[in-house]
Amino acid sequence: MKRREFLSGAAVLGASALVGCQQDRSVVGTYAAGETINWRMVTTWPMNFPGLGTGANTLARLIGEMSGGRIRVQVYGAGELVPAFEVFDAVSRGTAEMGHGAAYYWKGKSESVQFFAAVPFGMNGQELSGWLYHGGGLELYRELYAPFNLVPAPAGNTGVQMGGWFNKEIRSVADLRGLRMRIPGLGGDVLRRAGGTPVNLPGSEIFTALQSGAIDATEWVGPYNDLAFGLHRAARYYYYPGWQEPCASLEALVNKQAFDALPEDLRSIVLNACRVTDQDMLAEYTARNNQALDQLVNEHRVELRQFPDDVLHRIRELSQEVLAEVGSRDELAQRIYRSYTRFHEQVRAYHRISEKSYYLARDL
Ligand code: CA
Repeated sequence: MKRREFLSGAAVLGASALVGCQQDRSVVGTYAAGETINWRMVTTWPMNFPGLGTGANTLARLIGEMSGGRIRVQVYGAGELVPAFEVFDAVSRGTAEMGHGAAYYWKGKSESVQFFAAVPFGMNGQELSGWLYHGGGLELYRELYAPFNLVPAPAGNTGVQMGGWFNKEIRSVADLRGLRMRIPGLGGDVLRRAGGTPVNLPGSEIFTALQSGAIDATEWVGPYNDLAFGLHRAARYYYYPGWQEPCASLEALVNKQAFDALPEDLRSIVLNACRVTDQDMLAEYTARNNQALDQLVNEHRVELRQFPDDVLHRIRELSQEVLAEVGSRDELAQRIYRSYTRFHEQVRAYHRISEKSYYLARDL
């Protein structure tokens, strides 16, 4: 039987047959010369969703183009092959060779993964890239995922997010008490500590949950993505800044056997396609967010609100407590936490006199 026929047969028979096929291949360890390598990429995003889903498409396209067609990656939206939050397990066991999502969706595997997605009051996209690519972060990221049979790579960044959508104004920390809010990751832990109830929902379920009153509030990403889901039709106030996600790093996952079976040049192509996507997505958000915010405010009459200073001050204190706890869970968590916080402190000291003073000077 030809390989393609075998693979499509395996898809019909189900995941277990495909895993068997991939285990066979990992034993062989290489592909035949001239063989087209067909990979599946499962994602946590609705297919073609602006920025996130299209970022996954960009990654797949780049791998195809840079490899001269030697690897073809088929992208699957959330729920097409596996549900959004099963991407990690699906790639780990080899149901798909690749995945695209955000690390905090798998905090149940290890809380430390959240340092590679979004840290409340943590580093922005520019700073996080500094840590990942030139500050030891990427090595720790790979070490953390190795026991799960996964090779992770940063593959997209949203930049600073918005604080979210609320139907009542947040005037004090007391207004967060009892609030049922969709907010994933460490930001959710901080909300819980402030007396709220964090809910983790994939993007596709947010609008309905907010409109039906199943949740009181939500954060998603920023104007570009929030407009696409129509969140302005389900809530009145749009808050900033996005303290909970000063950037969200999106993540590509590669099954370890599938990665190891590639020749060296294709491994480099896969990782560098991730790196190009990482940079490209941040550029896309930078280009689109301001246009979308203008539309939200001037066409849809969304009411922008800034969180009061005392609210931000209190939740920053709570964030530091949450981070210190998560960063003390085990030996690797301690090393990740120390590395992240040390880099953050250093980069922050310089950015006070570079980025921050320039932002202020520009608006004098
Ligand atoms: Ca978010």
